[in-house]
Amino acid sequence: MNKDIFKLLKGSALFKRFLILFIVLATVPVLVMGGVSVYLVDLAHRQDVSQLELQLIDQKIEEIDKFFIDTAGTLELTVDILGEQIPYDQQQFILSSILASNSAFHELGFLALNGRVNSKRSYEQGELSPVGNFLDEAVFMVPASGKKYIGEVHYSNSEPMVTLAAPVRKRDQQTNAPGDIIHILYAETSLEELVTSMENAGVGTGGYVVLADSSAKLIARGDTQDYEAGIDISSTGRVQEVLDGASFNALDDGDRYTSSFSGVPVVGAAKQVPVTGWALLVEWPLSDANAILSDVRGKVVQFSVFALLAVILLAPLFAARLINPINKLEEAARAIEKGKLDTRVDIKTGDELEGLGETFNKMVEGLKRLQELKDEFVFVAAHELRTPVTAIKGYLSLILEGSAGKISDQAEKFLNQTKKANDSLNQLVNDLLEIARSDAGRLEVETAPVNIGEPAKSTVEQLQPLADEKNITLSYNTDIKAPSVIADEKRIKEILVNLAGNAIKYTQEGGRVELFHEVKDGMVATHVKDNGFGISEEDQKELFSKFYRVKTDKTKNIQGTGLGLFIVKQLVEKMGGKIWVNSKEGEGSDFAFTLPVAE
Ligand code: ADP
Repeated sequence: MNKDIFKLLKGSALFKRFLILFIVLATVPVLVMGGVSVYLVDLAHRQDVSQLELQLIDQKIEEIDKFFIDTAGTLELTVDILGEQIPYDQQQFILSSILASNSAFHELGFLALNGRVNSKRSYEQGELSPVGNFLDEAVFMVPASGKKYIGEVHYSNSEPMVTLAAPVRKRDQQTNAPGDIIHILYAETSLEELVTSMENAGVGTGGYVVLADSSAKLIARGDTQDYEAGIDISSTGRVQEVLDGASFNALDDGDRYTSSFSGVPVVGAAKQVPVTGWALLVEWPLSDANAILSDVRGKVVQFSVFALLAVILLAPLFAARLINPINKLEEAARAIEKGKLDTRVDIKTGDELEGLGETFNKMVEGLKRLQELKDEFVFVAAHELRTPVTAIKGYLSLILEGSAGKISDQAEKFLNQTKKANDSLNQLVNDLLEIARSDAGRLEVETAPVNIGEPAKSTVEQLQPLADEKNITLSYNTDIKAPSVIADEKRIKEILVNLAGNAIKYTQEGGRVELFHEVKDGMVATHVKDNGFGISEEDQKELFSKFYRVKTDKTKNIQGTGLGLFIVKQLVEKMGGKIWVNSKEGEGSDFAFTLPVAE
């Protein structure tokens, strides 16, 4: 099958056309589907990435919210007291219990409404002396106006800290609701817990969080590199934009950039933290975020390549299925053109091509019938012509011999011409009969052991007068004795007369014609060699075809039918031999035929 396909690839334009058509028809959808899949997967993946990053941001914002509820929230007290201030001892008691409730608190203190520190307590040192006045500072002013205060991030012994403060109210005796502000409670609070949580937060294996406070100072960074907390990062990445209220969702092309933090291409999302005004960024290295995508892409490419390979392997088979019947028809048509009218095609495709094959076979049968009719006609016509031609020949001989009385020289000359023409006609009739027999498979050959020397000698004797007329030396060289052959003696004679007759006909006056034998591989080859006109290579190819005659200046006036060599070939082959010619124009020809040696 493969060999056939290679042959088709080389030789059949239609096969190539079908092949290209199949490949294009199958490849285009595969490529389009592959492309669309990659695009859709990409789109879905972008959304997944965005969702994951936004989820992380929201989770972290919630965590920050919770941190400040747990810290700043606990500072907002409502107390049941009689006087206008909480007594000092009671203040200390409250401070120590708040310090014990949350380890983020490092130092706490009550402020009086004049901004002075009433009492102070630290987690490590316990009670501290109450010094300081915060009247003009936000830590006092904001809670004094009834709101919670969250200060800027600062660093104490490189620990991130934030000052929190909230109003402390006295419970209204009548309404039981929080009433007037009587103190401000402030707390120096460690952000260590939040920082650790931010540093450990991640998405995928490489995604990380960056947190900056409202004045663009770095609070925490989760990538693998060391960082210096507290530095200004307002000019880095999109921190300032986020602090100005912008948010990013990792869906836009602009959300893919090279990070100023990790230095690698990332896809980033960012939001401002509502409770503190801080900026929270999530950055995910593209190599990591797209790892799954590359995997899926790889699979799509793999599938497409597999599909394309399948197409490339199957397309020739499909194309061959279509082309083979057409090639069969073409081959059969060529065989028929060469006269092999027994050729039939066998196409079993179950479609129009099979129908075409059947019609083709019917057409060939018709052709064969016509051929048989023609052969029959030629045979009958030649057969019927033989009797009158033979009669004419007989009577002409009688007249020329003087049996009908003396004839004038002029009449004798004309009658001789008539006899020559009648001989040619006789030869033609005989040749046609032989051909008709051969075409009908009725060429009769009766084989028996034959001494080939006999017909050879007799041929030379018969043609001697013809050779003498042209002063040609006709000889039979018996240096090599031929063993007996299995053949039909009469037919050998016919063959030799034909070949030697041609040799004399197509050799100039004074030439040479020689018959001799050669014994080789169980065969006797008989040569009829002349030094006459010779035959061109082109003519040699067609020489043994029906009615073929060489047309040159030298041969144009020589009479003939072009049937002799055709009949000779049929006879030789019928007797199991082969015939060929070696010839060169202007130098002569050597016709030879083989016959099997008798055991
Ligand atoms: P015919 O001789 O009747 O034309 P043949 O079939 O015997 O037909 O020969 C076919 C052609 O071959 C001849 O027309 C002739 O040109 C060429 N031919 C045959 N024998 C020879 C030969 N010995 N030398 C040169 N040409 C030859």
